[in-house]
Amino acid sequence: MPFEVFILGNNSAIPAHGRHPTSQVVNHHEKFYLVDCGEGTQIQLSKYKIKRSRLDHIFISHLHGDHYFGLIGLITSFHLLRREKPLHIYAPKGLKEILEMQLNVSDTKLVFELIFHETKFDSAEILLENDDLTISSFPVKHRIPTTGFLFREKNIQRKVRTEKLEAESIPHELIVELKKGKDVILNEKKYLSAEWTFPPASPRSYAFCADTLYHEELKNYIQGCNLVYHEATFMEESSERAKQTFHSTAKQAATMAQIASVKHLLLGHFSAKYEDLLPLLIEAKEIFAHTKLAIEGLKFEVE
Ligand SMILES: [Zn+2]
Ligand SMILES: [Zn+2]
Repeated sequence: MPFEVFILGNNSAIPAHGRHPTSQVVNHHEKFYLVDCGEGTQIQLSKYKIKRSRLDHIFISHLHGDHYFGLIGLITSFHLLRREKPLHIYAPKGLKEILEMQLNVSDTKLVFELIFHETKFDSAEILLENDDLTISSFPVKHRIPTTGFLFREKNIQRKVRTEKLEAESIPHELIVELKKGKDVILNEKKYLSAEWTFPPASPRSYAFCADTLYHEELKNYIQGCNLVYHEATFMEESSERAKQTFHSTAKQAATMAQIASVKHLLLGHFSAKYEDLLPLLIEAKEIFAHTKLAIEGLKFEVE
């Protein structure tokens, strides 16, 4: 079952060099979640043939324009396309008022329900949970209140050895028990879960670290993640500028990946001053080898 991140926008602040402000789609078991919605997000969605209608939950890290200026356009399209399902938005305080004002002045009465969930900044919290996945927010350090998001799979069930079971006629409810790791008895024959099923794969996790200053506490929220997206607005040569603006360098992103023992790192939120991104990748790889650039239009599997 897929667990992957599709990059729609990877630039910071200003769109430049054909790159767009932050936005990405997380696909977990064919359920799609939008993370940030910078300007141009719905154009990118249509370019990469990702159906808007698959989005029911949108997570906004903070209220700098490069992370949400695409939202009113997307919401308006949903309205014009006569969306019926509710749309959930998880965002900092203030976004609800901004959107309501935009809708009011254009006399738009949405044909679907917008449900706001206000995120908080003093601790991590669970925002959404289903049978397979938990999505939480966690605080990061930026100029205004900002959260990252953590997508963590729940414990996965054991997998049935179908080739072995085909010869037996075991009722479905007993197969469910075997998958849970329990042994069952049928017609006086004992079926051991360990023998009739494979061990489950370990749960995977993806963390989106939003815009943030390098700060060590972040590692507590992303420890051991399979994939981490960390901003790398600048290179180390501009570390002073990074500090002043509450951003990170490629080297700092790699250091965070290393101290948090994550498996793979994705760099994004690049400054418009870098047309060529390769030097940022080289800088990060000197510290953390399993680093990639979050290039728009690419899909990254949470391995
Ligand atoms: Zn930003
Ligand atoms: Zn920002």
